[in-house]
Amino acid sequence: MTEIIDGEAVAADVRDAVAAEVTRLSDRGVEPGLATVLMSDDPASETYVSMKQRDCEEVGIESVHVELDADAPASELYETIDDLNGRGDVHGVLVQLPVPAHVDKRSVLRRIDPEKDVDGFHPENVGRLVAGDARFKPCTPHGVQKLLAAYDVETEGADAVVVGRSNIVGKPMANLLIQKTDQGNATTTVCHSRTEDLETKLRAADIVVAAAGVPEMITGDMLSEDTVVIDVGINRVETDEGSELVGDVDFESATEKASAITPVPGGVGPMTIAVLLANTVTAAARIHGVAEPARS
Ligand code: NDP
Repeated sequence: MTEIIDGEAVAADVRDAVAAEVTRLSDRGVEPGLATVLMSDDPASETYVSMKQRDCEEVGIESVHVELDADAPASELYETIDDLNGRGDVHGVLVQLPVPAHVDKRSVLRRIDPEKDVDGFHPENVGRLVAGDARFKPCTPHGVQKLLAAYDVETEGADAVVVGRSNIVGKPMANLLIQKTDQGNATTTVCHSRTEDLETKLRAADIVVAAAGVPEMITGDMLSEDTVVIDVGINRVETDEGSELVGDVDFESATEKASAITPVPGGVGPMTIAVLLANTVTAAARIHGVAEPARS
């Protein structure tokens, strides 16, 4: 029988741990703060930012929100980041992606103080991740690792296939899976749009992490029995009733094969924000020189 991996429940546990850490820091005079910056009219981006603010409130993290016009000059965004980098009450700075086309994303990510880069996208932090000395593990891939750990999925020696090679999901996911750690040690194949014979690679996998952004592209017949399937994809598709969110995996057919699978929504999504909160309290502890919480 296929186990449904309950990301909401695991994320709630992570948030409880974060809330306890916020209390511990607060007792030492540190009030963790996360700044979100939105420079977009995209409703999905607006929703993600408001979910982050809501969850901050739940665990006791102060949230600061800055909204910029989508057509404002890039310099306004840079000045905002500089200001947040310098603020003592802000320990994490997150610019909601994507930024408008006239803004250079790489310059934005480089501008964020690496100590406050709770998304883990600054090149310095990417380098540290690759070197096995992560300052902040990027939220979505680390959320996936936590889900696997919560469901006792053995990664050591497993054949893992990551579908997608983006900087925010696919690449860091593969990097975490190959690290010489308890939650790594997997033999990892990274697939992308130019991969030939994806199906053969998927069928050979013990663990599949789907992050392609293509609705329901992975179907049950592409998987072997007993594969663990982690569906990172969040795709809005039109239906007769309006629209709905689906993953990159066809949930119905995949459950006939998978030993465990994440649903969409309710799988990886909640973990991403929970890890962001955890990274924020870690940043606050470090910046103020308070002993850090245990890391996993
Ligand atoms: P990107 O569009 O940046 O990257 C998609 C990757 O998938 C690319 O590497 C692309 O290959 C690859 N790809 C596209 N089509 C195929 C295909 N047919 N076969 C194999 N590989 C393919 O997306 P993101 O990484 O940002 O996001 C991926 C998905 O995850 C999206 O649905 C997004 O909404 C979701 N997401 C969910 C999060 C969560 O919290 N649950 C957080 C972040 C993202 P190539 O490089 O060759 O173009």
